[in-house]
Parts: sequence; C-alpha cells; structure tokens
Amino acid sequence: MDATATIGLTGLAVMGRNLARNIARNGHTIAVHNRTAAKMTALVEEFSDEAREGGGELVGSESLEDFVASIQQPRTILVMVKAGEPTDAVIDELVPLLDEGDIVVDAGNAHFTDTLRRQQALEEKGLHFVGMGVSGGEEGALNGPSIMVGGSEHAYENLGPVMESIAAVVDGTPCSTHVGPDGAGHFVKMVHNGIEYADMQLIAESFDLLRTVGGLEPAEIADVFDEWNRGDLESFLIEMTADVLRHTDAETGKPFVDVVLDQAEQKGTGRWTVQSALDLGVPITGIAEATFARSLSGHAEQRAAAREMFSTTSEEHTVEVDRDVFVDQVRAALYASKVVAYAQGFDQIAAGAEEHGWDIDLGSIATIWRGGCIIRAQFLDRIKEAYAEEPDLTTLLTTPYFADAVKDGVDAWRDVVATAAQAGVPIPAFASSLSYFDGLRRGRLPAALIQGLRDNFGAHTYQRVDRDGSFHTTWAGDR
Ligand code: NAP
Repeated sequence: MDATATIGLTGLAVMGRNLARNIARNGHTIAVHNRTAAKMTALVEEFSDEAREGGGELVGSESLEDFVASIQQPRTILVMVKAGEPTDAVIDELVPLLDEGDIVVDAGNAHFTDTLRRQQALEEKGLHFVGMGVSGGEEGALNGPSIMVGGSEHAYENLGPVMESIAAVVDGTPCSTHVGPDGAGHFVKMVHNGIEYADMQLIAESFDLLRTVGGLEPAEIADVFDEWNRGDLESFLIEMTADVLRHTDAETGKPFVDVVLDQAEQKGTGRWTVQSALDLGVPITGIAEATFARSLSGHAEQRAAAREMFSTTSEEHTVEVDRDVFVDQVRAALYASKVVAYAQGFDQIAAGAEEHGWDIDLGSIATIWRGGCIIRAQFLDRIKEAYAEEPDLTTLLTTPYFADAVKDGVDAWRDVVATAAQAGVPIPAFASSLSYFDGLRRGRLPAALIQGLRDNFGAHTYQRVDRDGSFHTTWAGDR
C-alpha cells in the first residue's frame, strides 16, 4: 500500500467521522480506520466527493496494518475512540506497527493523568504522544472545534498546522493552540467541561427563578434569553437555552422542558474537575455545586421521600416580585456568578500548570475558547484582554472590567439569592458564587476560630496577626 496520507484517524463514531470529514475537506489526505470496518466503508463511500471538492482525500483501510502503511512517515495518527480502556487497547495495537518519531494523538476525552501515563510509556518507545482536547461536540468536530493540544513542540509542529486549518476561527485566529506538554491539553479540556457544568447550572437556576418566582412561562423565558443574548451574556449556551425553552413537544403539545425527566446525567468530566481542584486546593465552588446539583437530581428515592415528608411546607413560598425588575436582577446575578465560575476555572488551570510544570498562557486559552466550543461566549474576549494586560493576574475578579461588572450587579445578586431562599427555590450555584465573592473580599474570616478549635482539640498550633511564628495555647481541660 502506498503511503499517501499526511495524517490518519482511527475511531469513526460520531466525533471521529466528523473530524475526518473536516480534515479531508480542508485539503488533507487522511487515512481512516475503524474497528468495525463498515463505519469506515460508509464514510469513504458517502464523503469521498466532498473530500475531493475540498482538495483532500479519504483513504480507507480495513486492517490496522494497512491503515498505518497508508500514512507518510513520520506518521501522525489520531485516536478517537471511547475513553479509558478502549484507548489503551487501540494504542497497544498501534504501537508495534509504528516507527520511531511517529506521533500518536489521543483526541478523546481522556483523564489527564492517563495522558501523563501514556505519554511516558510511548516516549520510552521513541514515539511522541499527544493528549488533545476537542470541544464542540459533533457539530464542532465537523465545522470547526476548539482544540487544546498537549504534547512536545515537535509534535505540535507536525500536528498544529492541520488542526489550525480545521478549527473554528474568530477574528482571523484559529481556535487551536499548543497548550503545553503531555497532560496540559486534556487538563485544560477537563476544566473547560467543568466550566460548562457551572454555566449550564447557572442558566438552569435562572430559568427556575424566572418561572417559579417571576411567574414567566417557558416561551416568555425564551424571549428573555434571546434578549440577554444581545448583551454581555451573549454566548452559545444562552442562545441554545432560548431554543430549548421555545421548543414544544410534538406528542403532547406541552413545553419540551415539562416532558423531560428532571435528572441530569454526567459523563464524569465535572467530577474529574472537582477531584483535581480538591487535590490542588483550589476553591471551584460554582463547578462543584453544579456537579453536586446533577448528582442530587439523580437521587430519585431521596427526593421522593423528602417531598412526601415536607409536603406540608408548601413547595414554594409565594414571594411578590416586580417581574421586570426581577428579570433584570436575575440577569445581573447570572453574569456575576458566571464571572466567578470562569475566574475559578482559570485559577484551577494556573494551579494545575504550576503543579505539573506546564507553562500555560492563560490568555491563549481564553482566545481558543471564543469559538468552536460549548462555552464560547463574547466575554471570553474580556478575559483574553485581561491576561494580555497582566499575564500573572491574581484573580480575574479584580480586573477593572470584571470588578465593575460585579460591583454593578452585587446588590441584585444578593436580592436574587435572598429571594430564592425565601421562595424555597434551590440555587446552589448562585449562592455559592456569592459566598465565594464575599469570602474573598471579607476583611476577616471565621477561619481564625477554626484555627483556635484545631489548636484546642489537637494542638495543631496557630499563627497570630501581630507576630510571626507558630503558637500553642494550654487550654483549660487540655486533651
Ligand atoms: P464513543 O461512543 O465514545 O466511542 C465509539 C468508538 O470507539 C467507535 O469507533 C468504536 O469502534 C471505538 N471503540 C470502542 N472500543 C474499542 C476497542 N476496544 N477497540 C477499538 N475501537 C474501539 O465515540 P464518540 O462519541 O465519537 O467519542 C469519541 C471520543 O471523543 C471519546 O473519547 C469521547 O469522550 C470524545 N468526545 C466526544 C464528544 C461528543 O460530543 N460525543 C465531544 C468531545 C470529545 P466500533 O465502531 O468498532 O464499536
């Protein structure tokens, strides 16, 4: 078999198939393979014309051996299969067929620690390994995703130009970057997904408040979201929320949101983000609450038991609000909470970079998240500018633009959280974001008392405000 392809891709389910089409129609000759050969044959049959129109070609192979042989050396091979064991299985099958200097790219949603492990194992065999985060779902994969590449400079020199040619483009800049070495790309993709959790939870809480307290119907709330999408909240998720809320179930004629089971699923990236934040000691309260809110939604038995027990306390307390004022207050609370969620996410990336020795340019992350990915939003431009101004920012919250946004919205934010508490509407992401903000800006925190308690029960010592050193008090009834 002639080696005509400049890149290869194995794993042709929804993501791999669309990514392969995107690569081919952007002028590249791509070798394609799938464990079940029928998916490869179907792709080549259906989309070879499309590939040729774009100046590229799809080169299909049934066997992994032929697939590898059809790629020019040094080979760049994308693996786009189910994350976890299947990815290891495919890499194990590929490695014996490769030559020194070849580049294996895991484009699935791997945990970054798996990427670190795989990178080390392949490096020992003289191969390059890249962990590449791809965001944007199947639509993004086809029409321009956001791509976060972790690997060596050498690997990006080979892979980068192809990825930049297929990524989304915003203001002439492709949404693909070399994030850093080994696990950096998958780490940043993980935090991206965590922020996505927080974004969606905040949107869901806004919807609940507007409906339960504001008395708006789903279609009216869709109009509100449309309106919000014309201002500083402009984003893919806000736009999509309007679509979902306006949608009517064809069978029942009811609003779509009313016929969907209220139990949100999760594939695990939110959980990974929270676990990593705990290890790093970074308070990502918005993302954590969003992840727990999904867990709570799935605890059907506990919810049923609690509903029965507390049914005498009316489900929602009636709170009178001025509808228009309330809509505006929720908008301000949403924006401020969103700023907190992103500030926390960027803190986590900075902490992860420090822990693992990755030199990550945070501004470049904001830049590539402006297009292609699920959390794409107008305000990422502001984050990009903030990091351009001050690359070692302590927190995004104190940069002039975001500080003004929070100052302008803080009264409304407090009103919304208080109103929700009175009405009995759960708003874990709104409330935790506000508490985080108050925690940061507070002159003194009750952590001082915790230090005292720890010293009392465990002689853990404490520091004083008026002099350096560690101190221990002999407590009455010392234990
Ligand atoms: P998927 O359902 O996660 O995986 C199916 C693919 O994996 C098929 O090609 C399947 O081959 C292959 N596969 C599974 N086990 C295998 C094994 N032991 N050996 C060889 N091949 C095996 O597909 P997907 O939804 O397209 O996602 C692909 C990757 O992208 C995943 O890591 C996913 O997490 C990530 N991702 C997905 C999205 C999304 O929106 N779906 C977004 C970003 C990233 P067969 O056809 O032979 O079964």
